[in-house]
Amino acid sequence: MRALSPEFTSYGWAPSTAEIARLAGIDPIEVVRFDGNVAAAPLSSSRPGAIAGALARVHTYPHGGYTELVPAIARYAGVGSENVVLGAGADDLIALCARAFAGPGDTVAIADEPTYPLFRIAAWLAGAEVGDEDPVLTFCCRPNNPTGALDPVPGARPLVVDEAYYEYCGETALPLIDDGVIVIRTFSKAFGLAGARVGYALADVATAAELNARQTPAPVSTLSAALAVAALDSPPDVAPVVEERERLARALRSLGLEPLPSSANFLYMPVDGALRLSEQLLRQGLAVRAFPDAIRISIVDREDDDLLLDALARALDRPSPVAAPGGRRVRRLRATAETRIAVRLALDGASRVRVATGAGLYDHFLEQLAFHAGFDLILEGAGDLETGPHHTAEDAALALGDALSAALGDRRGIARYGDAVVPMDDAVARAAVDLGGRPATELRLERDPGLAEHMLASLAQSARCAIHVEATGRDEHHVAEAAFKAVGRALRTAVRLESAGIPSTKGTL
Ligand code: PMP
Repeated sequence: MRALSPEFTSYGWAPSTAEIARLAGIDPIEVVRFDGNVAAAPLSSSRPGAIAGALARVHTYPHGGYTELVPAIARYAGVGSENVVLGAGADDLIALCARAFAGPGDTVAIADEPTYPLFRIAAWLAGAEVGDEDPVLTFCCRPNNPTGALDPVPGARPLVVDEAYYEYCGETALPLIDDGVIVIRTFSKAFGLAGARVGYALADVATAAELNARQTPAPVSTLSAALAVAALDSPPDVAPVVEERERLARALRSLGLEPLPSSANFLYMPVDGALRLSEQLLRQGLAVRAFPDAIRISIVDREDDDLLLDALARALDRPSPVAAPGGRRVRRLRATAETRIAVRLALDGASRVRVATGAGLYDHFLEQLAFHAGFDLILEGAGDLETGPHHTAEDAALALGDALSAALGDRRGIARYGDAVVPMDDAVARAAVDLGGRPATELRLERDPGLAEHMLASLAQSARCAIHVEATGRDEHHVAEAAFKAVGRALRTAVRLESAGIPSTKGTL
């Protein structure tokens, strides 16, 4: 092979989730990553149905190019299709630009260190050196990774502006594409498609044509292209991420830390002993990106960010700025061809509950159950609601039951039995539960809006518990809601820790 710059070092990956789990002595699902700057969850458009058409033709090449994706990107960016260059992620386009403009004997300039390491790597792989002396190409990153800063666009030309985090700030160098600027963007961040590997460059027509001529013939899989098209159909709202970033920044400041102002979905925080601190967090299954004098924290969501704040407070021996997380805590992910449901459950919680699968009434019932059980529950996901709520509601109940079973562990010491009577206007429900490990149901709901009994049966099945309910009343909503509340109240009693022993005279469950 031809020699590269003596300074060349290849891209260094962070430890895998499995490695972190081993280090922390936990299940991989319990690892929370704040180090990838990716979205907290896939968009609801990223579902098996979105790729069904592409899968049916997966034996063929994307003949004739990406006839849906390229125009969709052009529309989203407000340019013509002739201005678009596709790549397998922004990284592929960074490498393409480097090798298109630079080669052995050339110098590539990089604005604003520290910045994204791939600019250097791409320059070296092209055979060039990195420096400021008469560069053939300059890279800059806006907003900058890792600092989050949005510095002015450099005057150097030709210039590649990496806008991987564009959506979080709305600032773009796009008006400069007819002035020697190439903009690179990605579906890996705000669009939640990092695993799909789709990115694009926007350039003037002649530059885009030249880059396309030098690009590999089919850089994006047809499956990934279909996911990107589906995502562009309903672009994400980043406002909650931006809001959460500012909340997290305030909470970090209340801990005496000093995160820098950020225009992206992460915070860069200078801190003494950054490497030691990140190692401490890693041992608790919390991965942040460590630099010699700082850590970078990707925004996830309030609940997970609070876990990090709590761990940081303990590591720094300062009072926690957030309420303590609930005990007997588990995470679960249930993914089928029909639905994807993510569950975070703490049995010893404070009724902090959010259920959002889009299955309206049934989300409401699960919220009622968890609230009255005293659990902390975040249950989120997306399902094929176009076929009706059946799959989504059923899988939500199954996923909750699975999480409940996992949180109970070997079920030692729990009260095991619980019962409750809950009136609700015209309705009244009586429920009794047994968490002994044998799934069984006796459900008599006088009226059912459709799936209430089925959900309780699904819950009993995956939680491995017995649920008995008798509910009467004139209004189907009230009857079902009273039933879920009563099961919640019964669970509150049954999950209580009473002793260290096995709650059975058999000595086993
Ligand atoms: N540019 C920047 C500034 C980034 O931070 C990243 C991802 N960490 C990328 C590009 C790579 O994006 P992609 O997944 O599209 O290759």
